[in-house]
Amino acid sequence: MERTLSIIKPDGVERGLVGEVITRFEKAGIRIAAMKMRHLTKKEAEAFYAVHRERPFFDSLTTYMSSGPVVVMVLEGDQVIQKNREIMGATNPADAAPGTIRKDFALDVEKNTVHGSDAPETAQKEIAFFFSELEICS
Ligand code: UDP
Repeated sequence: MERTLSIIKPDGVERGLVGEVITRFEKAGIRIAAMKMRHLTKKEAEAFYAVHRERPFFDSLTTYMSSGPVVVMVLEGDQVIQKNREIMGATNPADAAPGTIRKDFALDVEKNTVHGSDAPETAQKEIAFFFSELEICS
């Protein structure tokens, strides 16, 4: 059993896609073990995306991620990190496979509707960024 962090980004919450995204996870047999809504500060967004600090898109990305509320979830299931990445699709919607969340809903490479951890170590770090162990219903 594996855990991953999922975020429905501001463009997804603003356009009323929360239910649609969660439905896709649940239909794929993924369990939601924790969930909350947060409006990140710019500083929190910068801390969350600290690995991208040197990238040219960092300021725009963190401004966008703090522009409105997000829904943060811990997903649980067998190989859920990889499974979630498949359901999300490629970072750039232009490259995303048909039927993925990003192909169907992302506005562009930045406003791409969802975040998902990319490896077990990042999943652990990202979950701890938002949730205490007590908040996760395993
Ligand atoms: N991003 C961007 N421009 C780029 C690449 C990435 O604005 O050229 C944003 C996008 O929102 C992406 C996030 O930065 O989801 C993190 O990038 P990463 O390469 O980790 O992609 P992900 O793991 O989210 O698919």
